[in-house]
Amino acid sequence: MVDITPPKYVRNILKALSSHGYPACIVGGCVRDMILRVPPNDWDIATAATPEQILELFPDSIPTGMKHGTITVRSGGQFVEVTTFRDDGEYQDHRHPDHVRFVGDLNTDLGRRDFTINAIAVTSDGVLVDPYHGIDDIRDGIIRAVGNPKLRFEEDALRMLRAFRFSSRLGFEIEEDTFFAILANASLASGLSAERVRDEIEKILLTANPEALYTVIECGLLDTYLLKHLSRDDGLIRIASTRKKALPRWALFCAILLADDCIESVPDFLRSLRLDNRTIRCCSDACNLLMKAPPETAVDWKRLLRKTGVDSVECAALCWDAIYGGGFEDQLRKVLKSGECFSLKYLAVNGHDLAALGLKGKQLGRMLEFLLDYVIEYPENNRRELLLTLASSGDD
Ligand code: ATP
Ligand code: MG
Repeated sequence: MVDITPPKYVRNILKALSSHGYPACIVGGCVRDMILRVPPNDWDIATAATPEQILELFPDSIPTGMKHGTITVRSGGQFVEVTTFRDDGEYQDHRHPDHVRFVGDLNTDLGRRDFTINAIAVTSDGVLVDPYHGIDDIRDGIIRAVGNPKLRFEEDALRMLRAFRFSSRLGFEIEEDTFFAILANASLASGLSAERVRDEIEKILLTANPEALYTVIECGLLDTYLLKHLSRDDGLIRIASTRKKALPRWALFCAILLADDCIESVPDFLRSLRLDNRTIRCCSDACNLLMKAPPETAVDWKRLLRKTGVDSVECAALCWDAIYGGGFEDQLRKVLKSGECFSLKYLAVNGHDLAALGLKGKQLGRMLEFLLDYVIEYPENNRRELLLTLASSGDD
């Protein structure tokens, strides 16, 4: 059996709770990850203590979600979420429980959790509590809903996307009844907020198996955002070969959706999912660039950088690497490292210099563009005197 001892700052919270008579345990993703021998993202504690009792015990903690029973406790310079054992009430909107009820009992709390692999706890005395046989499912690589999957997805439609997220991240299969319940309830995903859907898509994109998105789409979970379902080819698999960074992964996903007419416009699609402006700009630019041949020479790269800007070109280079098997990011880095000029900012003369020569208005603007074009081709000539001579010769 693997050792599921949490770090000291977590043990100290468990100890404080249990010494005051409140049963407490670590629970959820951290236990699952420890069993899988991967470092947990964070440590979650569940306890019989009410939020008020937790606050009394740890006065400098932050009442992050009093209504849902969550307090963020500081310990050893770290933050740990401590949540009161609870039982979720009715879910009228398929998203949030109408009310939660604090309960004294761990098993009830485990019963409201989404999947068996996430419904395992280890008490402060080190006792493993696994009423839904999550450990067996971890061993067998299975994502299985706790209880009746259809009801569980009706309660909270996000769980359907979470099923795919865990399946793609851990390389686990979604158990048959759980999968059929997703098919039956997929239309409920239309009621989820775009931000929650976006976060789940991004987490799937950042796993080693982003091709899970084929099934997510085929099940109808993204119907609100797509014109049609994506046909299967090797496209999504390529996403895994690009760097684990959100930008190029979103860009490749958009390029694949666009090529298959699943979306009409990259910016509109990303805006509907509430992506930030930088991501929208870089992905739209990158998708446009991916429709053309990649640059071959340093001059090509600099022309591209001048026209499209560094972060969009960087994003496109990472996508080209995934499509053609590498080399493009290195070429771009070399060009950037060379310090050669590709923007007016680095040109050895500026507008004031040209104004002093008597140029103005459009003529001045055209001359600056001409000089930039010239030094992009002849980087060694990015010298003030030489450019001023060229400009004063008057021929643009
Ligand atoms: P990660 O490693 O990505 O943080 P996690 O399993 O810890 O994965 P969290 O979103 O941090 O996931 O949630 C912590 C725990 O809370 C889960 O393991 C699960 O037990 C429970 N949980 C989270 N979201 C839901 C949900 N929508 N429905 C039911 N239980 C949930
Ligand atoms: Mg977590």
